[in-house]
Amino acid sequence: MGDVVAIAGGGASGVILAIHLLRESSDTRDVVFEPNELGEGVAFATRCPAHLLNVPARGMSAFSDDPAHFTTWLAANVSDPFDEDSFAPRHLFGAYLREIAKRCKQAYAGRFEHVKALLTVAKSNDYRLRLRAADGRAYDADALVLAIGNAAPASWANAPASARFYANAWQPGALEPADLDETVVLLGTGLTAVDAVLELRHRGHRGLIHLVSRRGLLPHEHRLFDAPPQANPEARSLHELMNAMRAGDENWRTKVDGIRAFSNDIWRSLTLADRRRFLKRVLPYWNVHRHRMAPEVATTIAELLANGSINKIAGRTTAFEETPKALVVHIRERGGEFERSIAAQRVINCSGPEHDIKKYRNPLVQLLLAQGSLTPNAVGVGADVDDDGRLIDRDGVASERIFALGPVRFGTLIETTAIPEIRVQAARLAQLLLRSRDVVERKPA
Ligand SMILES: Cc1cc2nc3c(=O)[nH]c(=O)nc-3n(C[C@H](O)[C@H](O)[C@H](O)COP(=O)(O)OP(=O)(O)OC[C@H]3O[C@@H](n4cnc5c(N)ncnc54)[C@H](O)[C@@H]3O)c2cc1C
Repeated sequence: MGDVVAIAGGGASGVILAIHLLRESSDTRDVVFEPNELGEGVAFATRCPAHLLNVPARGMSAFSDDPAHFTTWLAANVSDPFDEDSFAPRHLFGAYLREIAKRCKQAYAGRFEHVKALLTVAKSNDYRLRLRAADGRAYDADALVLAIGNAAPASWANAPASARFYANAWQPGALEPADLDETVVLLGTGLTAVDAVLELRHRGHRGLIHLVSRRGLLPHEHRLFDAPPQANPEARSLHELMNAMRAGDENWRTKVDGIRAFSNDIWRSLTLADRRRFLKRVLPYWNVHRHRMAPEVATTIAELLANGSINKIAGRTTAFEETPKALVVHIRERGGEFERSIAAQRVINCSGPEHDIKKYRNPLVQLLLAQGSLTPNAVGVGADVDDDGRLIDRDGVASERIFALGPVRFGTLIETTAIPEIRVQAARLAQLLLRSRDVVERKPA
Protein backbone atom coordinates (compact mmCIF):
# COMPACT_ATOMS: atom_id res chain seq x y z
CA MET A 1 0.00 0.00 0.00
CA GLY A 2 1.45 3.38 -1.04
CA ASP A 3 1.53 6.66 0.75
CA VAL A 4 -1.59 8.67 1.43
CA VAL A 5 -1.38 12.30 0.40
CA ALA A 6 -4.16 14.39 1.88
CA ILE A 7 -5.04 17.57 0.04
CA ALA A 8 -7.04 20.25 1.84
CA GLY A 9 -8.90 22.04 -0.95
CA GLY A 10 -10.17 20.68 -4.25
CA GLY A 11 -10.06 23.87 -6.32
CA ALA A 12 -7.71 24.19 -9.28
CA SER A 13 -4.58 23.69 -7.16
CA GLY A 14 -5.84 20.59 -5.36
CA VAL A 15 -7.13 18.90 -8.51
CA ILE A 16 -4.01 19.63 -10.57
CA LEU A 17 -1.81 18.24 -7.79
CA ALA A 18 -4.04 15.17 -7.40
CA ILE A 19 -3.83 14.18 -11.07
CA HIS A 20 -0.05 14.63 -11.09
CA LEU A 21 0.34 12.34 -8.08
CA LEU A 22 -1.90 9.69 -9.57
CA ARG A 23 -0.30 9.78 -13.02
CA GLU A 24 3.23 9.69 -11.77
CA SER A 25 3.05 6.87 -9.26
CA SER A 26 1.41 3.48 -9.20
CA ASP A 27 0.43 3.26 -5.57
CA THR A 28 0.02 6.72 -3.99
CA ARG A 29 -3.49 7.44 -2.69
CA ASP A 30 -4.99 10.93 -2.82
CA VAL A 31 -7.62 12.01 -0.31
CA VAL A 32 -9.00 15.40 -1.31
CA PHE A 33 -11.03 17.31 1.28
CA GLU A 34 -13.36 19.75 -0.44
CA PRO A 35 -16.88 20.70 0.73
CA ASN A 36 -17.92 21.85 -2.76
CA GLU A 37 -17.61 20.44 -6.27
CA LEU A 38 -14.08 19.47 -7.23
CA GLY A 39 -12.23 21.75 -9.64
CA GLU A 40 -14.17 24.93 -9.08
CA GLY A 41 -13.08 27.05 -6.14
CA VAL A 42 -14.16 30.68 -6.10
CA ALA A 43 -12.79 31.49 -9.56
CA PHE A 44 -14.35 28.73 -11.62
CA ALA A 45 -17.62 27.99 -9.77
CA THR A 46 -19.26 30.89 -11.61
CA ARG A 47 -21.96 30.03 -14.14
CA CYS A 48 -22.10 33.59 -15.49
CA PRO A 49 -20.99 33.55 -19.16
CA ALA A 50 -19.83 37.16 -18.90
CA HIS A 51 -17.08 36.14 -16.46
CA LEU A 52 -14.07 35.57 -18.67
CA LEU A 53 -10.64 34.14 -17.92
CA ASN A 54 -8.05 36.83 -17.45
CA VAL A 55 -5.37 34.67 -19.06
CA PRO A 56 -5.55 33.69 -22.76
CA ALA A 57 -6.54 30.05 -23.29
CA ARG A 58 -3.00 29.12 -24.33
CA GLY A 59 -1.79 29.88 -20.77
CA MET A 60 -4.47 27.85 -18.98
CA SER A 61 -3.47 24.21 -19.51
CA ALA A 62 -3.46 22.28 -16.24
CA PHE A 63 -0.14 20.75 -17.33
CA SER A 64 2.97 22.80 -17.96
CA ASP A 65 4.44 19.94 -20.01
CA ASP A 66 1.35 19.88 -22.26
CA PRO A 67 0.55 23.56 -22.95
CA ALA A 68 -2.17 22.79 -25.53
CA HIS A 69 -4.17 20.56 -23.16
CA PHE A 70 -6.86 23.19 -22.44
CA THR A 71 -7.12 24.54 -26.00
CA THR A 72 -7.44 20.97 -27.31
CA TRP A 73 -10.16 20.31 -24.73
CA LEU A 74 -11.96 23.51 -25.80
CA ALA A 75 -11.84 22.49 -29.47
CA ALA A 76 -13.21 19.02 -28.66
CA ASN A 77 -15.91 20.07 -26.22
CA VAL A 78 -17.14 23.55 -27.08
CA SER A 79 -18.74 24.66 -30.33
CA ASP A 80 -17.69 28.34 -30.03
CA PRO A 81 -14.61 29.06 -32.14
CA PHE A 82 -12.14 29.73 -29.32
CA ASP A 83 -8.48 29.81 -30.22
CA GLU A 84 -5.34 30.01 -28.14
CA ASP A 85 -5.62 33.79 -27.79
CA SER A 86 -9.25 33.67 -26.58
CA PHE A 87 -10.24 34.75 -23.11
CA ALA A 88 -12.82 31.99 -22.71
CA PRO A 89 -15.65 32.08 -20.14
CA ARG A 90 -14.40 30.93 -16.74
CA HIS A 91 -17.18 28.36 -16.34
CA LEU A 92 -15.62 26.44 -19.24
CA PHE A 93 -12.36 26.21 -17.36
CA GLY A 94 -14.39 24.93 -14.39
CA ALA A 95 -15.88 22.24 -16.66
CA TYR A 96 -12.37 21.34 -17.85
CA LEU A 97 -11.14 20.91 -14.26
CA ARG A 98 -14.25 18.92 -13.31
CA GLU A 99 -13.43 16.56 -16.15
CA ILE A 100 -9.88 16.15 -14.84
CA ALA A 101 -11.33 15.41 -11.40
CA LYS A 102 -13.71 12.86 -12.96
CA ARG A 103 -10.72 11.22 -14.61
CA CYS A 104 -9.03 10.99 -11.18
CA LYS A 105 -12.06 9.10 -9.87
CA GLN A 106 -12.59 6.82 -12.86
CA ALA A 107 -9.09 6.02 -14.10
CA TYR A 108 -7.59 5.71 -10.64
CA ALA A 109 -10.46 4.07 -8.75
CA GLY A 110 -9.36 2.97 -5.29
CA ARG A 111 -6.53 5.50 -5.23
CA PHE A 112 -8.62 8.65 -5.14
CA GLU A 113 -11.16 9.77 -2.58
CA HIS A 114 -13.13 13.00 -2.42
CA VAL A 115 -14.21 13.76 1.15
CA LYS A 116 -16.98 16.30 0.76
CA ALA A 117 -16.18 18.26 3.91
CA LEU A 118 -13.71 20.78 5.24
CA LEU A 119 -10.59 19.40 6.81
CA THR A 120 -10.54 20.91 10.26
CA VAL A 121 -7.91 19.01 12.26
CA ALA A 122 -4.37 17.87 11.40
CA LYS A 123 -2.07 16.58 14.11
CA SER A 124 1.24 14.75 13.86
CA ASN A 125 1.73 11.54 15.81
CA ASP A 126 5.10 9.80 15.76
CA TYR A 127 4.86 8.47 12.24
CA ARG A 128 1.95 10.01 10.38
CA LEU A 129 -0.67 12.73 10.38
CA ARG A 130 -4.03 12.24 12.06
CA LEU A 131 -6.71 14.19 10.24
CA ARG A 132 -10.34 14.92 11.00
CA ALA A 133 -12.95 16.35 8.66
CA ALA A 134 -15.78 18.66 9.72
CA ASP A 135 -18.20 15.70 9.47
CA GLY A 136 -16.22 13.93 12.19
CA ARG A 137 -14.55 11.28 10.03
CA ALA A 138 -10.89 10.55 10.82
CA TYR A 139 -8.07 9.73 8.39
CA ASP A 140 -4.35 8.95 8.53
CA ALA A 141 -2.02 10.46 5.96
CA ASP A 142 1.68 10.58 5.22
CA ALA A 143 1.62 14.12 3.88
CA LEU A 144 -0.80 17.02 3.83
CA VAL A 145 -0.93 19.77 1.23
CA LEU A 146 -2.76 23.00 1.99
CA ALA A 147 -4.40 23.96 -1.30
CA ILE A 148 -6.93 26.16 0.44
CA GLY A 149 -6.81 29.00 -2.09
CA ASN A 150 -7.75 32.59 -1.58
CA ALA A 151 -9.38 33.58 1.69
CA ALA A 152 -12.70 35.42 1.86
CA PRO A 153 -12.40 39.23 1.67
CA ALA A 154 -11.19 41.14 4.68
CA SER A 155 -13.99 42.54 6.83
CA TRP A 156 -14.95 46.06 5.71
CA ALA A 157 -14.18 48.71 8.34
CA ASN A 158 -17.38 49.77 10.17
CA ALA A 159 -19.42 47.28 8.12
CA PRO A 160 -23.04 47.64 9.20
CA ALA A 161 -25.24 44.79 10.43
CA SER A 162 -27.77 45.30 7.67
CA ALA A 163 -29.66 42.94 5.37
CA ARG A 164 -28.63 45.28 2.55
CA PHE A 165 -24.93 44.69 3.22
CA TYR A 166 -23.16 41.68 1.68
CA ALA A 167 -19.77 40.89 3.23
CA ASN A 168 -18.67 38.89 0.20
CA ALA A 169 -19.65 39.22 -3.47
CA TRP A 170 -19.67 35.40 -3.76
CA GLN A 171 -22.12 34.75 -0.93
CA PRO A 172 -25.52 33.44 -2.04
CA GLY A 173 -27.86 36.18 -3.21
CA ALA A 174 -25.29 39.00 -3.27
CA LEU A 175 -25.53 39.46 -7.03
CA GLU A 176 -29.24 38.61 -7.41
CA PRO A 177 -31.18 41.86 -6.95
CA ALA A 178 -34.93 41.41 -6.51
CA ASP A 179 -35.48 44.92 -7.88
CA LEU A 180 -33.62 45.40 -11.15
CA ASP A 181 -33.60 49.19 -10.73
CA GLU A 182 -32.04 49.33 -7.30
CA THR A 183 -28.92 51.41 -6.67
CA VAL A 184 -25.89 49.30 -5.83
CA VAL A 185 -22.63 50.30 -4.19
CA LEU A 186 -19.66 48.00 -4.77
CA LEU A 187 -16.86 48.44 -2.25
CA GLY A 188 -13.82 47.87 -4.44
CA THR A 189 -12.82 48.66 -8.02
CA GLY A 190 -10.72 45.56 -8.80
CA LEU A 191 -11.49 42.36 -10.67
CA THR A 192 -14.12 41.24 -8.12
CA ALA A 193 -16.04 44.50 -8.57
CA VAL A 194 -15.77 44.10 -12.34
CA ASP A 195 -17.17 40.55 -12.01
CA ALA A 196 -20.00 41.92 -9.87
CA VAL A 197 -20.91 44.55 -12.48
CA LEU A 198 -20.91 41.94 -15.25
CA GLU A 199 -23.06 39.49 -13.32
CA LEU A 200 -25.55 42.14 -12.17
CA ARG A 201 -25.98 43.35 -15.75
CA HIS A 202 -26.19 39.74 -17.01
CA ARG A 203 -29.09 39.20 -14.60
CA GLY A 204 -30.91 42.20 -16.05
CA HIS A 205 -30.04 44.75 -13.39
CA ARG A 206 -30.45 48.30 -14.76
CA GLY A 207 -29.90 50.50 -11.72
CA LEU A 208 -26.92 52.74 -11.12
CA ILE A 209 -23.83 50.96 -9.80
CA HIS A 210 -21.18 52.92 -7.88
CA LEU A 211 -17.73 51.39 -7.50
CA VAL A 212 -15.80 52.85 -4.58
CA SER A 213 -12.20 52.33 -3.54
CA ARG A 214 -9.55 54.51 -1.94
CA ARG A 215 -7.63 55.10 -5.15
CA GLY A 216 -10.42 54.31 -7.62
CA LEU A 217 -8.06 52.16 -9.69
CA LEU A 218 -9.68 49.89 -12.27
CA PRO A 219 -7.69 46.98 -13.72
CA HIS A 220 -6.13 47.74 -17.09
CA GLU A 221 -6.98 45.91 -20.27
CA HIS A 222 -5.13 42.93 -21.71
CA ARG A 223 -3.80 43.47 -25.21
CA LEU A 224 -2.21 40.85 -27.33
CA PHE A 225 1.13 41.83 -28.78
CA ASP A 226 3.30 40.65 -31.57
CA ALA A 227 6.32 41.86 -29.63
CA PRO A 228 7.65 39.35 -27.09
CA PRO A 229 7.56 40.36 -23.43
CA GLN A 230 10.63 42.35 -22.40
CA ALA A 231 12.59 40.84 -19.58
CA ASN A 232 14.17 43.03 -16.96
CA PRO A 233 15.77 40.60 -14.56
CA GLU A 234 18.59 43.02 -13.83
CA ALA A 235 16.53 45.21 -11.48
CA ARG A 236 17.44 44.09 -8.00
CA SER A 237 15.96 46.74 -5.77
CA LEU A 238 12.46 48.09 -5.51
CA HIS A 239 13.67 51.52 -6.54
CA GLU A 240 15.45 50.20 -9.65
CA LEU A 241 12.50 48.06 -10.54
CA MET A 242 10.01 50.92 -10.25
CA ASN A 243 12.21 53.17 -12.40
CA ALA A 244 12.58 50.47 -15.03
CA MET A 245 8.85 49.83 -15.10
CA ARG A 246 7.97 53.53 -15.36
CA ALA A 247 10.33 54.29 -18.27
CA GLY A 248 8.63 54.37 -21.70
CA ASP A 249 4.93 54.26 -20.86
CA GLU A 250 3.60 52.70 -24.03
CA ASN A 251 5.44 49.43 -23.43
CA TRP A 252 4.43 48.77 -19.86
CA ARG A 253 2.45 45.62 -20.65
CA THR A 254 5.43 43.92 -22.27
CA LYS A 255 7.52 44.79 -19.21
CA VAL A 256 4.96 43.57 -16.71
CA ASP A 257 4.55 40.33 -18.64
CA GLY A 258 8.28 40.10 -19.24
CA ILE A 259 9.27 40.07 -15.59
CA ARG A 260 6.66 37.45 -14.71
CA ALA A 261 9.09 34.58 -15.12
CA PHE A 262 11.55 36.37 -12.83
CA SER A 263 9.13 38.04 -10.41
CA ASN A 264 9.66 35.53 -7.64
CA ASP A 265 13.46 35.73 -7.94
CA ILE A 266 13.29 39.52 -7.88
CA TRP A 267 10.90 39.36 -4.93
CA ARG A 268 13.23 37.12 -2.93
CA SER A 269 16.17 39.40 -3.70
CA LEU A 270 14.44 42.50 -2.31
CA THR A 271 15.15 43.51 1.26
CA LEU A 272 12.44 42.76 3.79
CA ALA A 273 11.80 46.51 4.10
CA ASP A 274 11.34 46.78 0.31
CA ARG A 275 8.98 43.79 0.22
CA ARG A 276 6.89 45.34 3.00
CA ARG A 277 6.94 48.71 1.25
CA PHE A 278 5.80 47.07 -1.97
CA LEU A 279 2.83 45.36 -0.28
CA LYS A 280 1.81 48.52 1.53
CA ARG A 281 2.31 51.13 -1.18
CA VAL A 282 2.78 49.54 -4.59
CA LEU A 283 0.54 46.45 -4.56
CA PRO A 284 -2.70 48.24 -5.56
CA TYR A 285 -0.92 49.75 -8.58
CA TRP A 286 0.87 46.48 -9.39
CA ASN A 287 -2.41 44.56 -9.26
CA VAL A 288 -4.18 46.73 -11.83
CA HIS A 289 -1.25 46.44 -14.25
CA ARG A 290 -0.51 42.76 -13.66
CA HIS A 291 -4.03 41.27 -13.20
CA ARG A 292 -5.79 42.74 -16.20
CA MET A 293 -9.27 42.53 -17.72
CA ALA A 294 -9.93 40.49 -20.85
CA PRO A 295 -10.30 42.90 -23.81
CA GLU A 296 -14.05 42.18 -24.16
CA VAL A 297 -14.59 42.89 -20.47
CA ALA A 298 -12.58 46.12 -20.66
CA THR A 299 -14.73 47.28 -23.60
CA THR A 300 -17.95 46.58 -21.69
CA ILE A 301 -16.73 48.40 -18.58
CA ALA A 302 -15.56 51.39 -20.66
CA GLU A 303 -18.99 51.59 -22.33
CA LEU A 304 -20.84 51.40 -19.01
CA LEU A 305 -18.64 54.14 -17.57
CA ALA A 306 -19.09 56.29 -20.66
CA ASN A 307 -22.89 56.01 -20.65
CA GLY A 308 -23.01 56.75 -16.92
CA SER A 309 -24.67 53.52 -15.84
CA ILE A 310 -21.71 52.73 -13.64
CA ASN A 311 -19.75 55.31 -11.70
CA LYS A 312 -16.28 55.06 -10.22
CA ILE A 313 -15.42 56.95 -7.04
CA ALA A 314 -11.99 57.33 -5.44
CA GLY A 315 -12.68 57.77 -1.77
CA ARG A 316 -13.01 56.25 1.67
CA THR A 317 -16.24 55.12 3.25
CA THR A 318 -16.65 56.90 6.56
CA ALA A 319 -20.00 55.60 7.79
CA PHE A 320 -23.08 53.61 6.88
CA GLU A 321 -26.58 54.64 7.90
CA GLU A 322 -29.68 52.46 7.67
CA THR A 323 -32.92 54.15 6.60
CA PRO A 324 -36.25 52.46 5.82
CA LYS A 325 -35.53 52.44 2.10
CA ALA A 326 -31.77 52.35 1.80
CA LEU A 327 -28.39 51.85 3.32
CA VAL A 328 -26.74 55.24 3.00
CA VAL A 329 -23.00 55.07 2.33
CA HIS A 330 -21.03 58.14 3.36
CA ILE A 331 -17.85 58.64 1.38
CA ARG A 332 -15.02 61.11 1.71
CA GLU A 333 -13.65 61.57 -1.80
CA ARG A 334 -9.92 61.31 -2.32
CA GLY A 335 -8.29 64.70 -1.97
CA GLY A 336 -11.63 66.33 -1.09
CA GLU A 337 -12.83 67.84 2.16
CA PHE A 338 -16.48 67.00 1.87
CA GLU A 339 -18.46 63.85 2.20
CA ARG A 340 -20.94 62.61 -0.32
CA SER A 341 -23.72 60.18 0.48
CA ILE A 342 -25.23 57.49 -1.68
CA ALA A 343 -28.53 55.86 -0.77
CA ALA A 344 -28.15 52.27 -1.96
CA GLN A 345 -30.49 49.32 -1.78
CA ARG A 346 -27.54 46.94 -1.89
CA VAL A 347 -23.93 47.33 -0.75
CA ILE A 348 -21.44 44.57 -1.62
CA ASN A 349 -17.91 44.13 -0.28
CA CYS A 350 -15.84 43.48 -3.41
CA SER A 351 -12.45 43.99 -1.86
CA GLY A 352 -9.91 41.31 -2.72
CA PRO A 353 -9.05 38.33 -0.54
CA GLU A 354 -7.77 38.74 3.01
CA HIS A 355 -4.00 38.31 2.83
CA ASP A 356 -3.21 38.27 6.53
CA ILE A 357 -3.14 34.56 7.31
CA LYS A 358 -3.72 35.22 11.01
CA LYS A 359 -7.15 36.57 10.08
CA TYR A 360 -8.20 33.62 7.90
CA ARG A 361 -11.46 32.23 9.22
CA ASN A 362 -10.39 28.77 8.04
CA PRO A 363 -10.47 26.40 11.06
CA LEU A 364 -7.55 24.32 9.76
CA VAL A 365 -5.37 27.41 9.38
CA GLN A 366 -6.31 28.59 12.87
CA LEU A 367 -5.46 25.19 14.35
CA LEU A 368 -2.10 24.97 12.56
CA LEU A 369 -1.27 28.52 13.65
CA ALA A 370 -2.13 27.64 17.25
CA GLN A 371 0.00 24.47 17.05
CA GLY A 372 2.89 26.51 15.67
CA SER A 373 3.24 24.29 12.60
CA LEU A 374 2.13 27.18 10.39
CA THR A 375 3.57 30.67 10.76
CA PRO A 376 3.02 33.90 8.82
CA ASN A 377 5.88 34.70 6.43
CA ALA A 378 8.32 37.53 7.01
CA VAL A 379 6.10 40.11 5.33
CA GLY A 380 3.20 38.93 7.49
CA VAL A 381 0.72 37.84 4.83
CA GLY A 382 0.56 34.19 3.65
CA ALA A 383 2.23 31.08 5.08
CA ASP A 384 5.96 30.89 5.59
CA VAL A 385 7.25 28.13 3.31
CA ASP A 386 10.60 27.06 1.93
CA ASP A 387 11.39 26.82 -1.78
CA ASP A 388 9.64 23.45 -1.97
CA GLY A 389 6.49 24.71 -0.28
CA ARG A 390 7.17 23.00 3.08
CA LEU A 391 5.54 24.86 5.96
CA ILE A 392 8.06 26.47 8.28
CA ASP A 393 7.11 26.08 11.90
CA ARG A 394 7.51 28.52 14.78
CA ASP A 395 11.03 27.17 15.48
CA GLY A 396 12.05 27.88 11.89
CA VAL A 397 12.06 24.18 10.92
CA ALA A 398 10.68 23.12 7.53
CA SER A 399 8.05 20.41 7.84
CA GLU A 400 8.61 17.02 6.26
CA ARG A 401 4.90 16.37 6.00
CA ILE A 402 2.91 19.58 5.58
CA PHE A 403 3.12 21.69 2.41
CA ALA A 404 1.38 24.68 0.86
CA LEU A 405 0.38 25.14 -2.76
CA GLY A 406 -0.95 28.17 -4.65
CA PRO A 407 -2.31 31.41 -3.19
CA VAL A 408 -1.45 30.46 0.42
CA ARG A 409 2.24 30.94 -0.50
CA PHE A 410 1.55 34.63 -1.26
CA GLY A 411 4.06 36.88 0.45
CA THR A 412 6.79 34.25 0.34
CA LEU A 413 6.21 34.49 -3.41
CA ILE A 414 4.70 37.38 -5.32
CA GLU A 415 3.49 35.26 -8.26
CA THR A 416 1.58 32.29 -6.90
CA THR A 417 -2.13 32.74 -7.53
CA ALA A 418 -2.71 32.05 -11.24
CA ILE A 419 -2.81 28.79 -13.19
CA PRO A 420 0.50 29.32 -15.05
CA GLU A 421 2.31 29.37 -11.69
CA ILE A 422 0.08 26.88 -9.86
CA ARG A 423 0.56 24.12 -12.45
CA VAL A 424 4.35 24.40 -12.18
CA GLN A 425 4.21 24.34 -8.37
CA ALA A 426 1.85 21.33 -8.45
CA ALA A 427 4.08 19.34 -10.81
CA ARG A 428 7.17 20.06 -8.69
CA LEU A 429 5.40 19.27 -5.45
CA ALA A 430 4.12 15.96 -6.82
CA GLN A 431 7.69 15.03 -7.79
CA LEU A 432 8.96 16.00 -4.37
CA LEU A 433 6.27 14.04 -2.54
CA LEU A 434 6.90 10.96 -4.62
CA ARG A 435 10.69 11.23 -4.28
CA SER A 436 10.74 11.85 -0.57
CA ARG A 437 8.15 9.32 0.54
CA ASP A 438 10.66 6.54 1.21
CA VAL A 439 12.82 8.90 3.20
CA VAL A 440 9.99 10.24 5.32
CA GLU A 441 7.90 7.11 5.54
CA ARG A 442 9.04 5.75 8.84
CA LYS A 443 10.55 8.80 10.43
CA PRO A 444 8.71 10.62 13.21
CA ALA A 445 6.85 13.70 11.91
C1 LIG B 1 -12.77 35.61 -9.22
C2 LIG B 1 -11.42 35.06 -9.62
C3 LIG B 1 -11.09 34.90 -10.95
C4 LIG B 1 -9.86 34.37 -11.33
N1 LIG B 1 -9.57 34.20 -12.65
C5 LIG B 1 -8.40 33.61 -13.00
C6 LIG B 1 -8.09 33.36 -14.38
O1 LIG B 1 -8.84 33.71 -15.27
N2 LIG B 1 -6.91 32.74 -14.67
C7 LIG B 1 -6.04 32.37 -13.70
O2 LIG B 1 -4.99 31.80 -14.01
N3 LIG B 1 -6.30 32.61 -12.40
C8 LIG B 1 -7.45 33.22 -12.04
N4 LIG B 1 -7.71 33.45 -10.72
C9 LIG B 1 -6.70 33.12 -9.71
C10 LIG B 1 -7.05 31.87 -8.90
O3 LIG B 1 -6.49 32.08 -7.63
C11 LIG B 1 -6.48 30.57 -9.47
O4 LIG B 1 -6.66 30.47 -10.85
C12 LIG B 1 -7.07 29.30 -8.87
O5 LIG B 1 -8.46 29.29 -9.00
C13 LIG B 1 -6.67 29.09 -7.46
O6 LIG B 1 -7.07 27.80 -7.15
P1 LIG B 1 -6.92 27.21 -5.70
O7 LIG B 1 -7.38 25.80 -5.79
O8 LIG B 1 -5.56 27.45 -5.20
O9 LIG B 1 -7.86 28.09 -4.80
P2 LIG B 1 -9.44 28.17 -4.74
O10 LIG B 1 -10.01 28.18 -6.09
O11 LIG B 1 -9.75 29.29 -3.83
O12 LIG B 1 -9.87 26.79 -4.08
C14 LIG B 1 -9.55 26.46 -2.76
C15 LIG B 1 -10.52 25.42 -2.30
O13 LIG B 1 -10.14 25.00 -1.00
C16 LIG B 1 -11.29 24.68 -0.27
N5 LIG B 1 -10.91 24.73 1.15
C17 LIG B 1 -10.47 25.80 1.86
N6 LIG B 1 -10.17 25.41 3.12
C18 LIG B 1 -10.40 24.08 3.19
C19 LIG B 1 -10.28 23.11 4.22
N7 LIG B 1 -9.86 23.44 5.45
N8 LIG B 1 -10.63 21.85 3.95
C20 LIG B 1 -11.06 21.50 2.71
N9 LIG B 1 -11.21 22.37 1.69
C21 LIG B 1 -10.86 23.65 1.95
C22 LIG B 1 -12.32 25.70 -0.70
O14 LIG B 1 -13.63 25.21 -0.53
C23 LIG B 1 -11.96 25.91 -2.18
O15 LIG B 1 -12.77 25.16 -3.05
C24 LIG B 1 -8.93 34.00 -10.33
C25 LIG B 1 -9.26 34.18 -8.97
C26 LIG B 1 -10.49 34.69 -8.62
C27 LIG B 1 -10.82 34.85 -7.17
